[in-house]
Amino acid sequence: MWQHTVKKEISFVGVGLHSGKPVKLTVKPSAADSGICFKRSDLAGDRVVNASVYKVSDTSLATTLAHDDVFVGTTEHLLAALSGLDIDNVLVEIDSDELPIMDGSAAPFVHLLKMNRKVQKAARLMMKIVKPMTFKDGDTEVTVKPFNGFKVTSNIIFDHPVIESQSYTVNVNFESFSKEIASARTFGFLEQVEYLRANGKALGGSLDNAVVIDRDGIVNAEGLRFGDEFARHKVLDVIGDLALLGCPLLGHVTATKAGHTQHIAFMQMLAEHQDCWQLVHRDENGFEDVLDKVVMATKAAGKKVLPFLLPPMPATVQQVAC
Ligand SMILES: [Zn+2]
Repeated sequence: MWQHTVKKEISFVGVGLHSGKPVKLTVKPSAADSGICFKRSDLAGDRVVNASVYKVSDTSLATTLAHDDVFVGTTEHLLAALSGLDIDNVLVEIDSDELPIMDGSAAPFVHLLKMNRKVQKAARLMMKIVKPMTFKDGDTEVTVKPFNGFKVTSNIIFDHPVIESQSYTVNVNFESFSKEIASARTFGFLEQVEYLRANGKALGGSLDNAVVIDRDGIVNAEGLRFGDEFARHKVLDVIGDLALLGCPLLGHVTATKAGHTQHIAFMQMLAEHQDCWQLVHRDENGFEDVLDKVVMATKAAGKKVLPFLLPPMPATVQQVAC
């Protein structure tokens, strides 16, 4: 299994869902083992934030990353697109503090990224789950179990006749992600949207970039893209947040009534429970090399290492890593 980047720079323009500000996003090729990094081109100097679970600063409405005073908001849909297409190494430049929401899904990103993938002759490091682990928070739960691939299940329950309870499971790969998950849009309830707007959030939100639900049903004239679009979008969010582990996961993750806050807490717990996973290289025939975690963490210091294996690195090291 080789790593991937993109063949050339790919740009997207849109608005931030919460800020309402126009933003240009450019995905640029980067070297093997450099991971995914965000750069704020509107700020002076090289203001970079790694896509790492240790850089999460806010999960209340979307997943925001930060390093010092550099913020990058609503990262999850682009990260899902990169993860779903097995793209490991890119530099993402934005000229605002929030990624563009596009149509509320990952489809616009996937459309251009999938045509521009480029293989890098460097082995992909993968996090293989060898023992189940469960994170619980009230009535929400995120579990992971061993599985020979990457599978995600989302279970949601909303007290509204349009959603009620939905469940969606996908064995994530390039094809299934593109067809079943990428175009599922984010959603919200009308009263919630009105409340957010009154508090200076969701300023870029519209029926062009979200499914909006009121008491009577779906407000969007075109209706839903899938009958279970809500559960599919939750799968998309799980995949996007899991990209913050820094390498692909081999396992089956099930998220029940969970949101970004629980996804991140689950990943932090997983990073600490090193008995639940191994780092492996896997060849095309499925043969695996198991890498010793301790050796990786110590020998690779100063080079690219998985973000969860070391405490947050100083900014200067991160910039070199990009
Ligand atoms: Zn989302």
